[in-house]
Amino acid sequence: MHHACAAELRAILGADGLVEDRSRRTAYECDGLAFERRLPDLVLLPRDTPEAAACMRVLRRHGVPVVPRGAGTGLTGGATPVAGGVVIGTARMRRVLELNVTDRFARVESGLVNADLTRACAPHGLFYAPDPSSQRACTIGGNVANNAGGPHCFRYGNTTRHVLGLVVVTHDGEVLDLSEPDLDPLGYDLVGLLVGSEGMFGLVTEVTLRLTPSPQRVETLLAIFPSLDAACDAVSDVIAQRLEPSALEILDKLTIEAVEASVFAAGYPASAEAVLLIEVEGSDVEVEVNANEIEAILAGRGALELRRAQTEAERARLWAARKGAYGAMGRVAPDLYVTDVVVPRTKLRDLVHRTTEICRERGLKIANVFHAGDGNLHPNISYDRRDADELARVLDAGTRIMEVCIAAGGTLSGEHGIGLEKQQQMRLYFSPEDLAAMELPRHVFDPEGRMNPGKTLPIRACMETRTKPLDEVTR
Ligand SMILES: Cc1cc2nc3c(=O)[nH]c(=O)nc-3n(C[C@H](O)[C@H](O)[C@H](O)COP(=O)(O)OP(=O)(O)OC[C@H]3O[C@@H](n4cnc5c(N)ncnc54)[C@H](O)[C@@H]3O)c2cc1C
Repeated sequence: MHHACAAELRAILGADGLVEDRSRRTAYECDGLAFERRLPDLVLLPRDTPEAAACMRVLRRHGVPVVPRGAGTGLTGGATPVAGGVVIGTARMRRVLELNVTDRFARVESGLVNADLTRACAPHGLFYAPDPSSQRACTIGGNVANNAGGPHCFRYGNTTRHVLGLVVVTHDGEVLDLSEPDLDPLGYDLVGLLVGSEGMFGLVTEVTLRLTPSPQRVETLLAIFPSLDAACDAVSDVIAQRLEPSALEILDKLTIEAVEASVFAAGYPASAEAVLLIEVEGSDVEVEVNANEIEAILAGRGALELRRAQTEAERARLWAARKGAYGAMGRVAPDLYVTDVVVPRTKLRDLVHRTTEICRERGLKIANVFHAGDGNLHPNISYDRRDADELARVLDAGTRIMEVCIAAGGTLSGEHGIGLEKQQQMRLYFSPEDLAAMELPRHVFDPEGRMNPGKTLPIRACMETRTKPLDEVTR
């Protein structure tokens, strides 16, 4: 990093707004995809939109690559500065700017932690629906960039369904205000385009979000199954019966064992081959009828035991166990590779078998904990990244898993995004023409290729299209 550039940034942010010290910068060299690392030249921590915009103008003048970062809980290497340059973190932008209870929206800074929004609006009988399992750490900006999901997105939809407006600082320091909560804005749906753009179109600094009324009643059911197959089949049956629980989550045996041996233990029986965690919400009558019907289906599929959480504390424990599952897997091996693929729900059972086989053939340990209602599989492979041979087998298994899921009619990601991890696999799903078309809006928002470079679109597609005039790409 050029001294003059660093000095200009220091003048904007003050010494405490920059992370310059090498040992402190190492905290920003990767996200949850631990085997891809690169130290950023500098980390910037602006306090608000004007500071972020001023930094972006300096960085543009000096031609420095920029990687936006929230909490770094991403699992695909999205916030890893592979091309060097600076990381702009949102850790000092965590305010709730407006809580409009009457019109049911909140305007927040992008560094706000997801769970803090629901905490802020709960006293008003409202909540923020998308609830990634990382919600106690991940930020709203990271959720927007990855179009995050979560257990309750089965009912409520991923982040994009809840974003009403954005304020974005573009690559050249312009502030793009798309924050009017207008029901039918004129022109293109730029907010829709920006959600899921993985930090490539600009730095999101403010977000206007839809708030949802808290349900009158919530019932949390736990079904214990003698096999993972039976749990998968029960999920298909519940959906086929047109029932609409708000969450349908499966944990397999290895995950249950890890959770029960950890601080997240919730009393899942260690002998179970699988558990299905289901939540039903609505009015009293609706919940009672739906819960009874679902329990009948679960029993019909051979559930060994059915439980309902009796208290709010019990419900919280069941969810803490589910949401703490990745952390608990740390007991199995030092590193965890969390894959994320979506498959047709009717094929869940077959694909769980196939992904397990793929890992076993390569001598790898696999556990499954997933958003079954959405067909969103997360085969989790435990490994040690210091073992080069094991890491190579993990990567090979990851690619094979994506191939079989796509061949079965699935897709590359349900919620974690593409980042670095699945960049090359984009070719499995998209044609060269599709990829070139995706490059066009990226070029519009970032003509110099400095915003989160080296992510999402396969490098060759980017390079080929960058070097051609735009009209040639569209031909
Ligand atoms: C234990 C665990 C459980 C998880 N469970 C889920 C789950 O249930 N559902 C789910 O969807 N994900 C889950 N994740 C993945 C991750 O938490 C989400 O992808 C989350 O949205 C990332 O938020 P973050 O603030 O950590 O973003 P980061 O990891 O910091 O960044 C993610 C991406 O967003 C970009 N970005 C971040 N902030 C901004 C901004 N302000 N403007 C523009 N771009 C930005 C980054 O450049 C990067 O590309 C889980 C992760 C862990 C570790």
